[in-house]
Amino acid sequence: MSDHEVPFRILPRVIDLNRHFWTGGEDGELRFLRCQDDGTYVHPPSPRCPNCLGKNVSPEDVSGRATVVTYSINHQQWMPGPEVPYVVAIVEIVEQEGVRLTTNIVNCDVHAVRIGMPVRVVFEEHADGDERVWIPLFEPMKTDGEQ
Ligand SMILES: [Zn+2]
Repeated sequence: MSDHEVPFRILPRVIDLNRHFWTGGEDGELRFLRCQDDGTYVHPPSPRCPNCLGKNVSPEDVSGRATVVTYSINHQQWMPGPEVPYVVAIVEIVEQEGVRLTTNIVNCDVHAVRIGMPVRVVFEEHADGDERVWIPLFEPMKTDGEQ
């Protein structure tokens, strides 16, 4: 049993419908259900496409790139968790407007986070009994030159 320096987190309940999302990080991929008929990404996971109501949905990799929609800096240790301060953010994937995740922005100063900032996914692995999950977190896109 390995004991990494990984912060305590409330872990998701993994079910067949969302397993692709919580385990994609094993391959370094952010995955969403996508309607194979009209290309709509379906999140939160649902057995039906919200656009055409079809059932032809299956997991697909996305780029892992997203944009910060809104964020707040948490200075308060409400419960055992990431070291404070940390950034709680809502990010929207670049592939589809409205597909948003509540996440943390990591690997940067909390005061460097901005609305509209381009970010990319990184994964934090957790073991929950026999199940392993990979929590998608986001870090600033590295741009050549600036920042
Ligand atoms: Zn559809």
